[in-house]
Amino acid sequence: MPKFKLLRDLLVRDGVIGEDQLYQPGRPPQAWLELVHEMAYVRAYCGGTLDAMAQRRIGLPWSEGLVRRTCTAVGGTILTAKLALNHGLACNTAGGTHHAFPGHGSGFCIFNDIAIATRLLQAQNLLKTVLVVDLDVHQGDGTAWIFRDDPTVFTFSMHCAVNFPGRKQISDLDIPLDEGTEDDEYLAKLAAHLPGLIIQVKPDLVFYDAGVDPHRDDRLGKLALTDEGLYRRDHYVLKTCAQAGYPVACVIGGGYGKDMNALIYRHSYLHRAAREVYRQYC
Ligand SMILES: [Zn+2]
Repeated sequence: MPKFKLLRDLLVRDGVIGEDQLYQPGRPPQAWLELVHEMAYVRAYCGGTLDAMAQRRIGLPWSEGLVRRTCTAVGGTILTAKLALNHGLACNTAGGTHHAFPGHGSGFCIFNDIAIATRLLQAQNLLKTVLVVDLDVHQGDGTAWIFRDDPTVFTFSMHCAVNFPGRKQISDLDIPLDEGTEDDEYLAKLAAHLPGLIIQVKPDLVFYDAGVDPHRDDRLGKLALTDEGLYRRDHYVLKTCAQAGYPVACVIGGGYGKDMNALIYRHSYLHRAAREVYRQYC
């Protein structure tokens, strides 16, 4: 999938980021992945010995290249989280694999990057409390399950009620939306919850999954946000957190469509909004 490199190139070409603002993550050691995932699963996936059924559940054909990309994306979310703690705001150009559970992958997700970054930074005493704001159109079921009994991590998922996964997990706060929900209703629901959540949780770090699959042209989304609606959403989340002094680490989440240029542009709204908010509030 060329999406990640295309996004990076677009951001540089449009001057959203300068070369000096680009960071290259490394591949995290296996022990970091095992802070969340079962050792047997990590080894089987990385070694290419996962059984056919588990592989089908992920939905992506195995290759050495995919293992490298998957692990680097996790490294990217870890790096993004550390940069956010230092600078107030940082964005990955990948990440948001929220359907991954400790012992299996699902729905194009292999390792749960936000969960791994959270556990690692907690272990390194860089943070204690995390708020996950997951606005991908699909429920963040893996993340919800991983942190279901963890009072240090608050999971908030706003998603389309009738979309994947068929069997939802219980987040700390779930806001299921009706099929076809449009900009104003969506943004009103978000505004009804986010400011109060930030005050309630007082997180050391906010993870924001900015999936663009709520867009009306998304192949898998079932919601009806416009381009402007997505930009307003991203700007609102980042501004609300930054203005209140909470650092935000962003991942791009899901987005599906045949028109690759339109899709990449949609993903870039996150970084465009981040640039504006960073200039004003960080
Ligand atoms: Zn999604």
